[in-house]
Amino acid sequence: MDMDPSEGKNDLHTLSRWITGSDNIVFFGGAGVSTESGIPDFRGAGGLYTANESARGYEVSPETILSASYFRRHPYRFFAFYREKILFLSAEPNSAHFILARLESEGRMQAVVTQNIDGLHQKAGSRKVIELHGSVRRNYCMSCARRYSLDAAQAAQDAQGIPRCGCGGIIRPDVVLYGEDLSGEAIHAATQAISRAEVLIVGGTSLSVFPAAGLVDYYKGNRFIMINESSTSWDDRADLRITGRIGDVLSRADI
Ligand code: NAD
Repeated sequence: MDMDPSEGKNDLHTLSRWITGSDNIVFFGGAGVSTESGIPDFRGAGGLYTANESARGYEVSPETILSASYFRRHPYRFFAFYREKILFLSAEPNSAHFILARLESEGRMQAVVTQNIDGLHQKAGSRKVIELHGSVRRNYCMSCARRYSLDAAQAAQDAQGIPRCGCGGIIRPDVVLYGEDLSGEAIHAATQAISRAEVLIVGGTSLSVFPAAGLVDYYKGNRFIMINESSTSWDDRADLRITGRIGDVLSRADI
């Protein structure tokens, strides 16, 4: 595999040394962690926000469609977009997910804090996962609160494609839409893990969605590793910055 021109051999060596030398690593990631599983991100090269309007086939921005107010007003359009652009039912974890899960099983990874809603970290075997934005795998009725698995919610679609509970209520995914609050419990757990971490690996995120991105500020150490395909406004703050695909970079590290 070719090395990225901006990545020196020493970077990979330092990455390996810092990871193998710690049993208190925390990973903070985003949509870029799952692009190697075939799920598009929002702001990366092939992301949903960067694709042109006709390719997207929708007249309003993804950010608008994925907002609480749009969902309330146009559930039919919301679910059409959700099924087409957000749900990737056959996606499988990639090497990044598997390596992070292995580090946890070896007692080195203390938490995976993710902005992703795809559940792939758990599918790869990670247990200590803090899902800041919820998960498509959990669903609930907005009227009677009955809980549904992803399969059951999919199977309960009415003629318009809106998942319906036996009580008639809409079954929605347990994800945080734009305009909704993050769970206080998830924020607390993430803050604790990040503020106590010796090594913080941030990967596959543009760090532009708040308040999630602001949690990185709680890190107090001096081993802040950033692995991303493109630059972010936080690059200068990283103690080690590696440009590349996260699954590829972690696979090549000696960890
Ligand atoms: P983002 O789309 O804003 O940024 C993704 C970043 O990852 C970009 O900087 C891109 O260059 C980089 N990237 C893409 N592929 C990469 C790879 N293989 N290796 C390393 N870097 C890579 O994503 P975000 O910061 O997570 O914010 C988007 C929001 O959208 C999040 O809140 C998340 O909930 C949601 N989202 C989730 C999924 C998912 O669950 N898989 C997918 C799309 C969006």
